[in-house]
Amino acid sequence: MFSYKWYLIILFASLAVSMALQLWLPFPIGLIVAISLFIALPLLFRAFFTNRASGGRSQSLGSGFFGMGGKPGGASVNYVCLVCNNRYKGGSCPRCGSKVKRADF
Ligand SMILES: [Zn+2]
Repeated sequence: MFSYKWYLIILFASLAVSMALQLWLPFPIGLIVAISLFIALPLLFRAFFTNRASGGRSQSLGSGFFGMGGKPGGASVNYVCLVCNNRYKGGSCPRCGSKVKRADF
């Protein structure tokens, strides 16, 4: 599952990168890129972790961290368990452990 420790590490890493970008890029561009990175990076990382936890290992090995081409917007996909109708993200149902699910957009 997605760990809070990693979330903090990535948060601080993106903060550091954001600061570095301020030095690299001219004022408005650097700020815009930094802010979007600061918002997007934890989300990307969360998506990466939920993919890893989903049990579809052979699948996520191929796609990797930046391999988002196969599933655009895959980070925001929810699933509905067909057994107990529980709504959740990623792998198997946290309530009943079933992997029978349908995507819910
Ligand atoms: Zn269930």
